[in-house]
Amino acid sequence: MTNGSAPEGPRILVLGRPGSGKGTQCGRIAERFAVPHISTGDLFRETVARDTPLGRVVRGFMDAGDLVPDDLVLDVVADRLGPDGAARGFVLDGFPRSIPQAEQLADLLDPFALDLALDLVVPADVARLRLATRLVCGDCGRSVGGGAIGACGDCGGSVEERADDDASTVSRRLEIYDRTTAPLSDWLDRRELLVRIDGLGRPEEVAARVDAACDEFLVSDSRDLAS
Ligand code: ADP
Repeated sequence: MTNGSAPEGPRILVLGRPGSGKGTQCGRIAERFAVPHISTGDLFRETVARDTPLGRVVRGFMDAGDLVPDDLVLDVVADRLGPDGAARGFVLDGFPRSIPQAEQLADLLDPFALDLALDLVVPADVARLRLATRLVCGDCGRSVGGGAIGACGDCGGSVEERADDDASTVSRRLEIYDRTTAPLSDWLDRRELLVRIDGLGRPEEVAARVDAACDEFLVSDSRDLAS
């Protein structure tokens, strides 16, 4: 570590196809290690909600199930991390989503490195079913599986279908994941950063696997992403 300042918390990134439970698990990891949870999907949903010209551009990509272009993504991530944002540690949720984005992250974090990447693995048919039956709180973003209707148990907001969870958009998101994000999993594996986690089962069961992986792998030295 350079600059003489060790990070205060671990630097973790989480991959997983849409419906893998990545948002839920990232929230738990962030709480456990008291690090910021940086979700590019949430940041873009906030941008869309502001209904600015930029928000309308971003909405077009999201509603189609397409990736937002890399330059916009990098702006949002760099802004959220700030000049020394990596110093507190972080859990990155939904970024990077491609090998070029991972290379951009390596540049952005320089001279910082990454501690661990987790890949939450669920088969596409399970992911599709989860997304078809989940509702999301419009206020706090909490996911409610199984199509339960009513007020959010966390904040009392109204739960609704996410704008990009209709069947055709889900198909597009899953297809893009296989084509663009899945190769990143192997790329991270080659750099000995990746742990694959079985994402099947109840959220608490998956969380126990995530905790075990963090316990085992966060003790070792971080590795430089750029190497
Ligand atoms: P999911 O993983 O279920 O698709 P996210 O909330 O992570 O959900 O992302 C929702 C949408 O936000 C994506 O379909 C894409 O349009 C956009 N997005 C999020 N992160 C990125 C990223 N790193 N690069 C490009 N687009 C992104």
